[in-house]
This record gives sequence, C-alpha cells and structure tokens, in this order.
Amino acid sequence: MPLSPAVELTRRLVRENTVNPPGNESRCMDIVAPLLRELGFTIAEHRFADGRLNLVARLGRETDRPPLAFTGHVDTVPLGAAPWTRDPFAGEIDGDRLYGRGSTDMKSGVAAFMDACRLRRDRIASSCGVVLYITVAEETGCEGAIALAAEREFVGRAGALVVAEPTGNYPLVGHKGALWLRVTAEGVTAHGSMPEKGVNAVMKAARAVVRLGDFDFNVKRHEVLGAPTLNVGNFHGGLNVNSVPDRAEINLDIRTIPGQAHARVGESIAATLGDEVTVREVLGIEAIWTPPDDPWMSRVFAIMAPLIGETPVARGAPYFTDGGALMHALGGVPTVILGPGEPHLAHQTDEYCLVSRIDQAVEAYCQIIDDWCGG
Ligand SMILES: [Zn+2]
Repeated sequence: MPLSPAVELTRRLVRENTVNPPGNESRCMDIVAPLLRELGFTIAEHRFADGRLNLVARLGRETDRPPLAFTGHVDTVPLGAAPWTRDPFAGEIDGDRLYGRGSTDMKSGVAAFMDACRLRRDRIASSCGVVLYITVAEETGCEGAIALAAEREFVGRAGALVVAEPTGNYPLVGHKGALWLRVTAEGVTAHGSMPEKGVNAVMKAARAVVRLGDFDFNVKRHEVLGAPTLNVGNFHGGLNVNSVPDRAEINLDIRTIPGQAHARVGESIAATLGDEVTVREVLGIEAIWTPPDDPWMSRVFAIMAPLIGETPVARGAPYFTDGGALMHALGGVPTVILGPGEPHLAHQTDEYCLVSRIDQAVEAYCQIIDDWCGG
C-alpha cells in the first residue's frame, strides 16, 4: 500500500538529524517552509539563536474570529547510550511502525498538522484560518517557545491551540507546569587543614536543602493533575577533598498545578531555604488546563471519540510542552494536547510512531479545522 503524504513527510523530517544540542533545526525548517509557502501560508521567522528560527505560518482571512493554532517542535533528544537496533535517521518502516529519533516526539505530529492544512487548504484560506507555531529548542526546556511567546507581534492571536505532542491521539486537557530553580551558596576557600580560615559553602547549602524536607505548597490538589511536587535533582559542591569549598549548587525541579503563580512559589521556596543561599529561576513553564466541559474541548472530545473508539475523559500529560508558554501568551485560550506519537516511546531507544496513528491524526486535525473554520 502506498504511504500517505503525512507519513512520507514524517520520514523526510526524521531523516534530518536535529538532535538537540545543537539542534540544527533549519534542516527541517528548510523542508517545512517551502511546503507551507506553496499552500499560500505567509511565514514569519523568529530568531532564537544563530541558524535556529521559530517559524510562525499563517493562512486565512482577517476576521473577527481568531484563527485556530497548532504547535510542534522539530528538535529531538540525543540518541542515548544504548545502541539502536534500527537506523535512527532512516525513517525505516516495518509493518505499522515508522522508526527513528523524533518519529514519535514529534515530527509525526508536525507532519500530520501540515498535511491536514494541505487537505483543508481552501477552507482555511477562505475563513478565519490557522496559525502554525513550529518551534526550535524544545527539548532543552521549551527555550524556543518561551522566547517566541515573549514577542507579541510574532504570537499574534489564536482562539484555540492544538499541541501535537505524542498522546497516541488521546486528547489531553492539560499538564503540570515546571519551575526549575538553581540554588547557590557562596563561601570562602581555604586549605583543608585549616577549615577555620574559610567559609564552607557545602555546609550552607546542606543546611538550606534540609529545610525543604517538610516544605508545604499549601494548595488544594488539582482534580485531574494532582498535587504539586518538589525534587532536589542534584547537589554539587567543592572541588577536592583538601580544600574548603567556596561554592555549592543545588537544582530543584518543581512541578506546579494550575493556579500556582511561579513568582509566588519561588518566593516561598526562597524564604524556606533561608538567607545563606540565593535562588534563581532557570526554567518557568506554567501549568495548562482547559476544563473538559469547555465548549471547544467538548467538540474535540466528540470528534476524537469515534476515531479512537472510546469516549475521552479528562486526563493530563505527564510531561510539559511548548503549550505552557504559548497558551498563556495567547491569553489562556482552550488548549488540547493531541498527537500521533506513542507517549511511552518519547526519548526511548528504537523510538517509533505507528503509521496508522499518523493517518488518524491527519483525519482528526482535518475535522478540528472543519469545526473551527466552518463546515
Ligand atoms: Zn516533544
């Protein structure tokens, strides 16, 4: 059986090595941009770093109704230490499986919404239309989308957002936010035989981190996403055994729930740690959440039920996404996480996506476009 255009496009994108770092996302953007221009999209390029451009593509008429947005990233995580049994950059297909780094996370998702736009081109062009945010530097903490979201003129407006991250085409209504904090303690170095001449930064950091043991976020558990969490991810200090360490660093990974303002969480963590250390935010992606009874989300659920063979219920994604930056930049528009990749295979050795899921995602996105842009 011949492969569909969306599956062929997924293979083309997988064959481009966009492992991040360094990213090299332009290899994929150079495929994506001409295809979109051919369809009549206008493209704005937002520079994240040298040779690393977020792409914002728009098609449709200027109307009172805002366009429908899709988003996806084209970078991937590294291959990992374990050897692959398949070529990670060949786009090899075996049965219903399309193998390769980025097949699931998330070149298949980008290919699927691109192809839905091709199939619905005329409808999109003659209505309020769609906007596509195709991003770089997602796998290192949504850096590309965060930079993009800070620039109003690039973000523009949209009325609803589809984040095409891997969900096996199950529509997910939100995810926790991520707040990564770097805690540092400074000291004064001295010879290890004369510790009284120095100030030990490791001891300061240790006293601070122990206080987090009974930290309480003081918020009610979210009905779907659960409770916020805090993990001390690492603790570094000192260079050698016979010196007094003059610097120590702790990195905290906090996962927040809707309604928790990161600035407030950061202040309360800093107060708990005390004044022997300083705290700096290294990543902030707020939680996203759209109630399942939101009218648009209800319609997405209704579209997906026959396609996936079950009535969706409100569930969250275990990971965070660019949607955390974009949804808030768009004013909190309803947002669904819905894409063809297999969530358990993201970042794995021998990552693959199901070919049938890619075609199913195209069908789903076409129906979501029809619903938004008028049947
Ligand atoms: Zn991803």
